[in-house]
Amino acid sequence: MKQPIKNIAVLTSGGDAPGMNAAIRAVVRACAYYNVKCTGIYRGYQGMIENDMVEMGPRTVKNIVNRGGTILKSARSTDFRTPEGRKQAYENLLANEVDALVVIGGDGSFKGGLALTKEFNFPIIGIPGTIDNDIAGTSHTIGFDSALNTVVDAIDKIRDTANSHNRLFFVEVMGRDAGHIALNAGIGAGAEEILIPEENIGFEKLIDSLERSRNSGKSSSIVVVTEGDSIGKTVFELGEQVKNTMPNYDVRVSVLGHLQRGGSPSCFDRVLASRFGVKAVESLLAGEHSMMVGLLNDKVVLSPIEKAVKSAGNGVDEELIRISDIVSI
Ligand code: ATP
Repeated sequence: MKQPIKNIAVLTSGGDAPGMNAAIRAVVRACAYYNVKCTGIYRGYQGMIENDMVEMGPRTVKNIVNRGGTILKSARSTDFRTPEGRKQAYENLLANEVDALVVIGGDGSFKGGLALTKEFNFPIIGIPGTIDNDIAGTSHTIGFDSALNTVVDAIDKIRDTANSHNRLFFVEVMGRDAGHIALNAGIGAGAEEILIPEENIGFEKLIDSLERSRNSGKSSSIVVVTEGDSIGKTVFELGEQVKNTMPNYDVRVSVLGHLQRGGSPSCFDRVLASRFGVKAVESLLAGEHSMMVGLLNDKVVLSPIEKAVKSAGNGVDEELIRISDIVSI
């Protein structure tokens, strides 16, 4: 690997998440602090292939710490999945005299970064940025906390109407293969049931639980469902099936969708992104590579990026499932 490092590039890739801008800002300013050039790459790996890069000084990232999305834009690049695409990307990095790369994204983005390291011995450090919180080696990814606040806020509003009409609402939240958003936001918003991919409660148990809620005098019920819930149905099919089984219930479905990704990042995410960005630059300057920065026991630590890529996420907290059963009684 090339030493000393004089020019660090930064990109955002995969799904955008609130707090990515705060991470970009931290990387750019840490570079300025240590007198290292910083190169921003637009549209993730696609921009790397198309040589869409710009030099970034500390003032280029003013007034972005509070903004959602990513000023560098994000992309899913199929070209980068090919050896030819990665070779072109590498040649552009050399042409721009870039010595190292900070990748802000999810595990797919890290796989792309690792390919660069393996094929061209190019140093990279990953910053976990995804609302799903599904990356091993960190208790929190950038964007997770903001998405939770957005979801809780939305469910609070749904609760108002559910209460007024004695309705049962199924609320679908993002999370694909991981129930972190559903479990945490479900507890935070007082959901009666939470359906996550990690726990198959089955349809019968869901009906029992809803009956119990009604018999205990609850005037509304909220069931939070992850996109990839374990009962194996879409949220609309599930709502329909419950309606058929419990005809007295006024069942409604709400899919929160992409609004979960948007909005201003929470203070927690801004601080986390700032810590991660500084650590990423300091690690590269200290000669580290192929590592991911993460938060464990409130300390910012490094772990091999290979581990984040190979393991199936960081697993939901079993204790939270137990707590949810108790507080929703
Ligand atoms: P999110 O979790 O929010 O979806 P992600 O980083 O996992 O984010 P992906 O779409 O999986 O999102 O990956 C982002 C980009 O990384 C891809 O579009 C592709 O360019 C690159 N990438 C992913 N996997 C590989 C791979 N195996 N080899 C090379 N590049 C890859």
